[in-house]
Formats: sequence, structure tokens, C-alpha cells
Amino acid sequence: MNISVAIDGPAAAGKSTIASLIAKKFELMYINTGSMYRAITLICMKNNIPYQNVEKVVSIIKNLDMYFNNNRLIINGKDIEDEIRSLDVTNNVSNYAAIREVRDILVSIQKNMAYKYNVVMDGRDIGTVVLKNSPLKFFLTATAEARARRRYNELNKNGILVEYNDILNDILKRDYIDSNRKESPLKRADDSIEIDSSDLSIEEVVNIISNHIKEYIASLCSN
Ligand code: C5P
Repeated sequence: MNISVAIDGPAAAGKSTIASLIAKKFELMYINTGSMYRAITLICMKNNIPYQNVEKVVSIIKNLDMYFNNNRLIINGKDIEDEIRSLDVTNNVSNYAAIREVRDILVSIQKNMAYKYNVVMDGRDIGTVVLKNSPLKFFLTATAEARARRRYNELNKNGILVEYNDILNDILKRDYIDSNRKESPLKRADDSIEIDSSDLSIEEVVNIISNHIKEYIASLCSN
């Protein structure tokens, strides 16, 4: 039986840092589903295809070969992990991610990955849609200010100069679009475990999740 761990939460809640540590610890494949929505956005923007042109957006996705290698997204043989983190992509991704047809295609690819491999997936609809039946669902939150502060420090550390208020506004805008869209809005699954990481270290969050996973694995072994 496959192990699938779902981690959802709003923008910049630390999902990818936590998920990649969990992946390493339990030898799971890490699938960052946000990267997939970012990739579609990047390619459409490069080809001047606005999110309103659903038919063109869909035709672009159908010609993409998408897989992860060492936690980096490869599209048609090219590593685009750095490009999809640009502010331009970040500012536009929620509009492309709100398209039902885009979600249908990506969710089907994600479900297929979880069928084939032991995975930890992070995103917005993992516990409610993609891994709906997983017994290991987590919802990671933190105040918008704590999330903006972390993202601001991370970007500054990497030499990217940004204004704290611009980061906070982007996070609030993405939270709003992601939580209010019609298709699979960001929502805590009723059976997920909520972790507010505002005052927790990365290690503390990893420990909380790890204990649940260990408990689950032990229950499988005793049955
Ligand atoms: O996780 P990340 O912040 O990189 O995700 C970028 C965007 O992709 C989110 O703001 C959201 O609009 C979209 N997304 C989504 N569903 C997912 C993962 C990401 O709608 N499962």
C-alpha cells in the first residue's frame, strides 16, 4: 500500500521546506504542485497567452512533458525551477490556477504520481481533492505577517531586494484569489491536522508531522 502525505496551506506558510524535509526523512517522492501551476503560468506568459484564453492555455499544457528530478521541475527536458520563482510568475499564477480545465489536467497527473509512488505533496487542494482519501493530511498556517516576514528574509538573503509591504500584499492577494475561486478553493480538509507555525521552528513542525506519520506506519504494521 502506498503512503501519501498531503500538506496544504496558504502562500509562504513553509510548505515546501517542510515537505522536502519530510520526503527525505521517510524516503518519499516530493511533489510540489505549486511548481506545476507556476510552470503553466511561465510558459503561457512567454507565449503571450492570457489566462482568459482557456482554449490556448489548455492546448499548451497538452504538449508538455512534466516530471520532477531531485525536487526540481523539468518541462520538455528543461529545468525551469529558477524561472518559475520569479515575481512576475508569482503575481500571475493564481489567475491561471483558477481555470477548471487547467486543474483537471494537473490533478489527474498528480493522482497518477501518487498511484505509482510513495509521495508527499504540497499545495492548496491536496487534502480536499488530489489525495482526498489519504489518512495523513496536514494544514499548515501562519499569520500573513509571519509568512511575509519569512519570505522577505529569504529573498533578501538570496540578494533579491524587495519591499516587505509588496511581499505582504502579494501574499494577501494570492490568499484571497486561492480561497475564493470557484474551482477547488484553498480550504482545510475536515479530517486534516492544522498546524499554526507562526511561533514554531521548522524542526518543531517537522517533528509534529513525523510523529503522525510514524504512528500511522506503526498502525499498518500491527494490523
Ligand atoms: O505553492 P505555491 O505558492 O508555489 O503555489 C503557487 C500558486 O499555485 C498558488 O498561489 C495557487 O494559486 C496555485 N496552486 C493551486 N493548487 C495547488 C498548488 C498551487 O491552485 N495544489
